[in-house]
Amino acid sequence: MRPDTPAENVDHTAEAARLERTAELYPEDAESLLLRAAAHRELSGDRPAATALYDRLLASGTPLDNPHLVRALKASNLWEYGHEAEARAIIDGLRAASPRDPAPWVIVAESLESHDELEQAHETFTEAVRLLVTDNPKPPKPTHPLLFGRHRVRRMLGAAHDEWDALADSVHTLPITLDELHDPNRVWSLGSENPAELEAELIRLRAELGAYREALSRPFPVAMLHWPASELTELLTAYPALLEEYPSHEEHLARIESALRELAASGTGNLGIVTGTVPSYEAFAAAEGTSPADATLLPQYATTLAARGRAVAWPPDPGAPCWCGSTTPYETCHGGTAP
Ligand SMILES: [Zn+2]
Ligand SMILES: [Zn+2]
Repeated sequence: MRPDTPAENVDHTAEAARLERTAELYPEDAESLLLRAAAHRELSGDRPAATALYDRLLASGTPLDNPHLVRALKASNLWEYGHEAEARAIIDGLRAASPRDPAPWVIVAESLESHDELEQAHETFTEAVRLLVTDNPKPPKPTHPLLFGRHRVRRMLGAAHDEWDALADSVHTLPITLDELHDPNRVWSLGSENPAELEAELIRLRAELGAYREALSRPFPVAMLHWPASELTELLTAYPALLEEYPSHEEHLARIESALRELAASGTGNLGIVTGTVPSYEAFAAAEGTSPADATLLPQYATTLAARGRAVAWPPDPGAPCWCGSTTPYETCHGGTAP
């Protein structure tokens, strides 16, 4: 089966409406569902509707898991449609509140950066790095975007490398180095004075920023659906039509791994795996008014589980057990060379 539909083919308005409906069914998961619905509203261009969803979450009686993230997303969205003063006030409040989660920091710093407030963006990234990275030589992965963002803004400001820039360079793993990626003056230092080349560099920088922002505006992974062996047996016994999708459990697991690798190789970030159960799948089919035997429902089921916060990040951390449920480390199980 295919994972989540690529962003460009999604009917964002319909998807937002479906997630808002699902939030009525699972109020305990409303925060993650409505955040994803808001991302679709933003992508559909209906920014006021996204603001309404952020406000609904912030005004709800239930305490939020991550109120700072909701505020950061709201500020970033507001600024995109002309509410600069309100956005700045929220950003100031957020910086003063010093959240211990990197994501809201990244979102507001990038919002400043994308509105050419480079000094402010730099200060914001630096505050967050000071708070969350400190002197850790192996900073946790969620803090990497802070280091990368700070590195990027400092290159655009023409600042010299400091220790945190060196750390950013050392944790960066893409084949192209961070300095190549972030240095708009690179073409000059190579002896070129061709404005077209400089322009190409700047476009690349903006593209990278765009990719990060896209990942953040979709705080839920692109998720592949995984059925444990016993669930798959039960599913295929009840709905033999699905045998076409799932010829065997072994094949099912191998396809998940290869699909995720393909997505990762094509630059899709934020990948994950959701685990299905027959009763929850049947309930989902009923809510959508269709039969569980309908294979086109499977990717929607996966997306909904992911939107409900049920996705586990892929690939697993080094040394962690494989995602397939075996006790073997990922590297020697599905993470091996021949999946
Ligand atoms: Zn560097
Ligand atoms: Zn495995």
